[in-house]
Amino acid sequence: MSSASKSHVPLVILGAGVIGLTIAYLAACDSDVVFDITIIARDMPGDWGSQAWGANWSPMPLGATDERVRRWEKTTFDRLWEMAPSGLVKRLPSRMFSETDEILSSLWWKDLVRDFRLLSDSEIPTPYKVGITFNTVCVNPWEYLSWFRSELESRGVTFRRQYVTSLDEVKHFVGKNGLLVNATSLGSRSLIGVEDTALFPIRGQSIIVESNNLQEFISARSGANLSEHVTSIIPRPGLIQTNTALLNGTYQIGNWDTSLDMFGCERDI
Ligand SMILES: Cc1cc2nc3c(=O)[nH]c(=O)nc-3n(C[C@H](O)[C@H](O)[C@H](O)COP(=O)(O)OP(=O)(O)OC[C@H]3O[C@@H](n4cnc5c(N)ncnc54)[C@H](O)[C@@H]3O)c2cc1C
Repeated sequence: MSSASKSHVPLVILGAGVIGLTIAYLAACDSDVVFDITIIARDMPGDWGSQAWGANWSPMPLGATDERVRRWEKTTFDRLWEMAPSGLVKRLPSRMFSETDEILSSLWWKDLVRDFRLLSDSEIPTPYKVGITFNTVCVNPWEYLSWFRSELESRGVTFRRQYVTSLDEVKHFVGKNGLLVNATSLGSRSLIGVEDTALFPIRGQSIIVESNNLQEFISARSGANLSEHVTSIIPRPGLIQTNTALLNGTYQIGNWDTSLDMFGCERDI
């Protein structure tokens, strides 16, 4: 059946982060249904905020207990790994060090990444107790999200910048037979009609540096809790922004503050 003779389904996606854009892309490439896609969001690809995260593939704890998360993580990892020749994704040698051996009980993902192995004592610097190495993938968020936007616009997707307080505000875009996807992430906490109070922020502070020499993801954890005091270096691919790396040293659960705190950064690193 030609796309002209197929019925068109309105698809409204709230949120233009990596999740909203990926959903839009998959829907736009669907060969069975023709979606008329509108993306509505407060922040758009290319905005300053889209620079600020890593972004490498790192395992999330939920994968240990939730089969769905494991499936999503594997699909994402394999797809990104295959995308490396495009230049949008970088294959990244990685080492992670930890002061406690808690990390050893959370390795549900070791067969998902490439070339995983435990480091020997001689390969682990003081004061760390455990070390692992593997190959993962990372993207440059600013370039990756901008690429999504141009791919989507070339497929007829409409972008609309709008802050939405309630799902009712976008109902008229969805119509009677359309679909609405909520991909607002933390925004869902206050979005009327969703109000997901299980969501909470984790505050990170990052610095982007230019360097040819940083070619490896390194992360070091100190403290008893796995998520405390994680310092990391994430080199990123770049077709436009070449040779950049993100330095992270802050991981504050429950902190909503988005302003820069030079002293807080120093304390955590
Ligand atoms: C410092 C830092 C480092 C990180 N490093 C990594 C990393 O290395 N690897 C990794 O995988 N993840 C990393 N993350 C996490 C990663 O950034 C998020 O998991 C990811 O961006 C979430 O994507 P998303 O599409 O779900 O949501 P978001 O990127 O938050 O996008 C949400 C979208 O919804 C829109 N929106 C929200 N509320 C409303 C509203 N009411 N009305 C209209 N629009 C709304 C926003 O404008 C935005 O467009 C890091 C995060 C931080 C802060």
